[in-house]
Amino acid sequence: MVKNIVTLSLVPTVPVCPIIAQNEIAFRQIQNVLSTDALNKACHRSKIEVTEEKDIKFVVASHLHLDHAGCLEMFTNATIIVHEDELNGTLQSYARNQKEGAYVWADIDAWIKNNLQWQTVKRSEDKLELAEGISVLNFGSGHAWGMLGLHVQMPETGGIILASDAIYTAESFGPPIKPPGIIYDSIGYSNTVERIRKLAKETNSQVWFGHDSEQFKNFRKSTEGYYE
Ligand SMILES: [Zn+2]
Repeated sequence: MVKNIVTLSLVPTVPVCPIIAQNEIAFRQIQNVLSTDALNKACHRSKIEVTEEKDIKFVVASHLHLDHAGCLEMFTNATIIVHEDELNGTLQSYARNQKEGAYVWADIDAWIKNNLQWQTVKRSEDKLELAEGISVLNFGSGHAWGMLGLHVQMPETGGIILASDAIYTAESFGPPIKPPGIIYDSIGYSNTVERIRKLAKETNSQVWFGHDSEQFKNFRKSTEGYYE
């Protein structure tokens, strides 16, 4: 049961359906790639806006790139839900001490040292219901090794698919599809975009993109209210 979904971002957070139940879910859907300094500020901001990290029960990490997973170590009381391929790839890059562009060694080190409680979504799993009206979508490989999204169904707003970087912007959504700057599996990427398009149509849902500043402008921010 979920009381509050907060999309954590470097800009004011977007709260979704605070009333459907009791626990909180944070979905790491950060809008812009900024410096470490900006990430630190975002940590500070999320500390204020998300009330207390210890109240968050689930954090759905769409993937583990620096601009979506920095500060995950703050959520020590939560179950961190991530795609198994994403966690495996990230831990390999840590073990090999590789400079993997979008993955930050020091972030991974902090997650390990803080003993985070990981729950992995297997390749074969999809539409895992976290609470009534809220399910985790398995987008598979594409932009990263393993991507997750969220489908939220609300009484008034209706359906929302939180696509994160499975679709950067309205322009990437197309049609035609435009691939992102960072891509691991281009066929997987395109298949996922088409799956999201189909799901959005079938469920009459809006699609919220990972990095669309124009779309973000129109969202109701946490200081302005919430969706229900
Ligand atoms: Zn990314």
